[in-house]
Amino acid sequence: MLYKQREKLEKVSTYQQAKTIEQIKQEYKQEKVLKLAGNENTMGVSPLVKEAIKSAENELFLYPDAKCQLLREALSNLYNVQENQLIFGNGSFELITLIGQTFIEEGDVSLIPSPSFGWYKNVTLTSGGTPLFIPLAHHKVALLDIKEAITPRTKVIWLCNPNNPTGTHFSHEELENFLNNIRKDIVVVLDEAYYEYAAGGDYPNSVDIIQKYSNVIILRTFSKVYGLASLRIGYGIGNQEMISMLDKVRIPVNINKLAQVAAYASLQDEEFKRNCLENNAEGLAFYEQQCREEGWEYIPSKTNFITMNVHYDAKKVVEELLKRGISIRPGVDFGMDDWIRITIGREAENQFVVRSIKEIIRKFKHNRSVEDASI
Ligand SMILES: *Cc1c(COP(=O)(O)O)cnc(C)c1O
Repeated sequence: MLYKQREKLEKVSTYQQAKTIEQIKQEYKQEKVLKLAGNENTMGVSPLVKEAIKSAENELFLYPDAKCQLLREALSNLYNVQENQLIFGNGSFELITLIGQTFIEEGDVSLIPSPSFGWYKNVTLTSGGTPLFIPLAHHKVALLDIKEAITPRTKVIWLCNPNNPTGTHFSHEELENFLNNIRKDIVVVLDEAYYEYAAGGDYPNSVDIIQKYSNVIILRTFSKVYGLASLRIGYGIGNQEMISMLDKVRIPVNINKLAQVAAYASLQDEEFKRNCLENNAEGLAFYEQQCREEGWEYIPSKTNFITMNVHYDAKKVVEELLKRGISIRPGVDFGMDDWIRITIGREAENQFVVRSIKEIIRKFKHNRSVEDASI
């Protein structure tokens, strides 16, 4: 091969996505697959979203509004921020990419809690920077250790709150303490993909934070509670100077029409969102109760997933679940080999998952005792 990729890319591996439902159907000969591996909302979308998409079908030949004006106004009113404090992305994935391209230079270091969302690392590397991983403490983002790790080369700090894959959060007070004690030329990213599930209590009021600290940006998404993962739309909220820097590298028309109308419509349906949050709270409570009864370790979660350790080979449990048409995320994917991460579904789905895990463990125990007896 005569052409070469940029040297920095040699260290980068392609981002691994969870298997699709189609892939699992074929590979495991299943007719139906329950995908609980990507924290998508199995409640679907609001009926208003379906209507909005139908009514946009005659406009598909037109370029959409590059500014997402209607949606921009809606979010600006909702959060009481200026319209130019918002930026939209093809999912938070794109916004994370834009932050890397805008702020990270050759020789810069970005600090990443570990384990956390995988894309921060890719973006740091493809931008020419160096990721430095700071282990979680008790499954929580270790703000004090992150502060200690700062050097003059530190440029970006990625904070996932609540943290994926552990579901834990840090408080408003912890965040302010942290921000008050670090340099103001470090860009701090608050990835709040699970904001709607976590809001309230001591969870940060991060819109107040960005008004006070111009080096902080919030990322949120329509992929989780609003159920629009397939349409790809997320947004950032920050200081207007920071937003205008990011806008320089953004693809001009990056949000398609259907995503714009769907996101706008989903903001109008409070009831759907409330139902989803209620369903999720009940689902989490169900899993936690089952974990306590079965003696499975779990991490209390502020999100739409729960990460647990059932004290059996986690990879085998995941494999056995796939044979039953259930897809969840093995902890080995993010360096927590003994753990599994399960997206909360509807009541019947959650029951099916727990029943299946119990069956699988019973089978393991039985096989083990048969082996023991034959020795
Ligand atoms: C799901 C998730 C995202 C991805 O969001 P998109 O808007 O679908 O790109 C970003 N960050 C975290 C932590 C997530 O869990």
